[in-house]
Amino acid sequence: MDLRFLGTGAADWTQQDWDERPDTSRFLTCALVDDHILIDCGPTLFRAARAAGADLSRVDTVLLTHLHDDHYDPATLAALAANHPLTLYTEAESSAHIPVMQGLSVCPLQPELEVPLADGAVTAVLANHRVGAPAPNRPVHYLLRQGDATLFWGCDGHRLLCTTWAFLRRCRFDVMVLDGTFGDAPALPTYFEHNNIAHLTEMAQIFRGEGMLKPGGRVVMCHLSKEYHQDHDTLSARMAAEQILVARDGMCLTIPERGTAK
Ligand SMILES: [Zn+2]
Ligand SMILES: [Zn+2]
Repeated sequence: MDLRFLGTGAADWTQQDWDERPDTSRFLTCALVDDHILIDCGPTLFRAARAAGADLSRVDTVLLTHLHDDHYDPATLAALAANHPLTLYTEAESSAHIPVMQGLSVCPLQPELEVPLADGAVTAVLANHRVGAPAPNRPVHYLLRQGDATLFWGCDGHRLLCTTWAFLRRCRFDVMVLDGTFGDAPALPTYFEHNNIAHLTEMAQIFRGEGMLKPGGRVVMCHLSKEYHQDHDTLSARMAAEQILVARDGMCLTIPERGTAK
């Protein structure tokens, strides 16, 4: 399984950042698996793919985590579906809010029920995150499995719901991508929807302690706020001490081989 991060930023990055500081900015979080499975479909998808040198022409599957507009842009989804027929998977309540689009099939998911894909399987689990009115729905994380390769995608969310934890602790992963939105910011009301560095570090320790990471498995930090984080290199050096890899736009991981970040 090849995982390519197209965007690694949270919702506070702006057009001005992308236009004026392309080397230090982050596009909105989304990723491409094996060139044909897209995780989230926000408004910077096409620009992020161009910057990463990624070809989206083979994308036939979209795994949508939730309907916040940094993860879901109907115009971008429609443009993608116009190029190539797409099947979009998302939690059932979210799926009711996806408009009819040419070339798009929507497949509602029930939490914790695995669904087969062409070359593997996907399971949605409920995230500790929320989208408010007018489109209340249940954000999800994903477990993606292809042969022996297993990926956990955990953006967006704060720590884990206890029901999700009970499900996940039975699993073992090659890569776990976790929400690392807030750096060392002081206590914020939005802490209940996203992690800071302390939360994420604690989660990684628990996951390792519970044997949820396979030998050589990695924890990756993604969905990074502009306001609350240091520059990438400083943050990477700090998180390396915790055995946590900081995602950056364009980064590729071959799963399950280790030492393949580039
Ligand atoms: Zn987000
Ligand atoms: Zn969100």
